[in-house]
Amino acid sequence: MELALSPEDAAFRDEVRAFIAENYPKEMRVPNPETDLTKEQSLLWHRILYKKGWIAPLWPKEYGGPGWSITRRFIFEQETSRAGTLPPLAFSVTMVGPVIYSFGNDAQKQKFLPRILSGEDWWCQGYSEPGSGSDLATVRTKAVRDGDHYIVNGHKTWTTLAQHADWIFCLVRTDPSAKPQAGISFLLIDMKSPGVSVRPIITIDGSHEVNDVFLEDVRVPVENLIGEENKGWTYAKFLLGNERTSMAGIGRSTRYLDRLKKIVKAEIPADDPAHLELSKEIGRIELDVLALEATELRVIAQMARGIDPGPAASLFKIRGTEIFQGITELTHRAIGNYGLALREQPLSANQFMPGPDYIHTASEKYLNARKLSIYGGSNEIQRNIIAKAVLGL
Ligand SMILES: Cc1cc2nc3c(=O)[nH]c(=O)nc-3n(C[C@H](O)[C@H](O)[C@H](O)COP(=O)(O)OP(=O)(O)OC[C@H]3O[C@@H](n4cnc5c(N)ncnc54)[C@H](O)[C@@H]3O)c2cc1C
Repeated sequence: MELALSPEDAAFRDEVRAFIAENYPKEMRVPNPETDLTKEQSLLWHRILYKKGWIAPLWPKEYGGPGWSITRRFIFEQETSRAGTLPPLAFSVTMVGPVIYSFGNDAQKQKFLPRILSGEDWWCQGYSEPGSGSDLATVRTKAVRDGDHYIVNGHKTWTTLAQHADWIFCLVRTDPSAKPQAGISFLLIDMKSPGVSVRPIITIDGSHEVNDVFLEDVRVPVENLIGEENKGWTYAKFLLGNERTSMAGIGRSTRYLDRLKKIVKAEIPADDPAHLELSKEIGRIELDVLALEATELRVIAQMARGIDPGPAASLFKIRGTEIFQGITELTHRAIGNYGLALREQPLSANQFMPGPDYIHTASEKYLNARKLSIYGGSNEIQRNIIAKAVLGL
């Protein structure tokens, strides 16, 4: 399914396609790029996009964005995800960058934005804590003013890729006596500061993607406060809105559906009843993908005419993640006994493994995809948002 494009936008789409085909690094073509690549490898594509001026589609031109229309942003997102490229680090480019250029002061913009664009600084997100996830307003990490510094103490958790991070953006409590939302501030903390430590959490698929981050008497200069003290909740919500856009993941689902069809063909004889059973379920999911894609195209066309998308981001997050989880479940069923195998090591692009790659990675993908309905605001929370915004409950 394609958006009806003007000749100029169609030419832009062709340019993006050709650029990806010619420039996407071979060493990034590994089975599970999110978990298999080193920090340096995962920055290769970031740096190529930076040189081209395409690293931050969302950003206004004055801060280094490419100045694309909504349609072009959508085309770029669709082409890169269909081609299976690893997106630039969302915590830097999609999350903290827009907060800094929207609410930061000039010194913060000059210090941080260029380094986010170039990939020199790697950011992680310090929102969640043990006991504060969906109910984020209850964060307990404390920041107490001491002259020109805040002294920060607390425990952040589920912090994705903190093991590589140079900086962490944190929600901290600066006024314990105020109502929960009113006492929170948004603070940028250098991960090299004394008192910051990172402990890995190994997830169900065996990968090291998330961490605990401990903050013990960390001295943070007051100049690292974004906006006003105790107004952090406003900036935090702005950031979450950006986090949930483009979660429909049509490109990714389409790629994995194609792969699933090949697996069923290769692994299950056509006269086996399981073949027919799986083919029917694949057909059902394919229809779901098409329906979601049609909805996404409709919303993009409305946004291009200046119409507010309403709670569409929540809808895309729910359906997009359910569909992708469904595909990984069917894939897991289709590979039969291979579903028991978990790799001991990540695979690099040049490493030889006997048999097709799905034999070694489909179980991990299935297990890893459980996270999708939890992070970025759980799917239950997204349903609450839709219930309030659409049904008025
Ligand atoms: C892989 C992964 C990576 C993550 N990365 C980061 C990161 O980089 N930085 C960061 O800050 N956080 C990160 N998170 C944390 C994530 O944002 C939280 O896990 C999420 O917000 C849910 O919070 P919780 O885990 O505390 O669960 P809880 O909030 O305790 O929820 C438990 C269950 O109850 C349900 N529930 C809770 N409240 C309601 C309600 N009001 N109505 C209906 N159901 C409800 C939830 O949907 C869930 O099923 C990550 C999580 C995962 C799994």
